Amino acid sequence: MRNHVAQQLPLEACGLLAGKNDRVEKILLVRNQAQSPVRYVMDPYEQLKAFSWIESHNLDLLGIFHSHPTGPETASATDIAEAAYEVVYLIWSLNGDTWQARGFFIGNGQVLDVPLVIQDG
Ligand SMILES: [Zn+2]
Repeated sequence: MRNHVAQQLPLEACGLLAGKNDRVEKILLVRNQAQSPVRYVMDPYEQLKAFSWIESHNLDLLGIFHSHPTGPETASATDIAEAAYEVVYLIWSLNGDTWQARGFFIGNGQVLDVPLVIQDG
């Protein structure tokens, strides 16, 4: 996921996280239809394909990730306004040269930090 986010620079990257019981088992990359450095819009066809993949593999949608190549490290006003799912919103941002990820629950205009455990491989 980090590689994908880095490769999409300077554009925002986005995708879905699927798994079971709070454990992500599959990362599904989705094209950013907006092709913008400050916005993401999931390509509807790829998003639909990803949703049906998740369903056919008996997994749950656990999270939605996207990147903020120019910050902030937290959810933006747009992210809060557009959050439509009760899942973890994972946001990648650049801290110097290093990508960092933070997780949030976004609902009713509020943002709660969600601790992440990230494993490589
Ligand atoms: Zn955002």
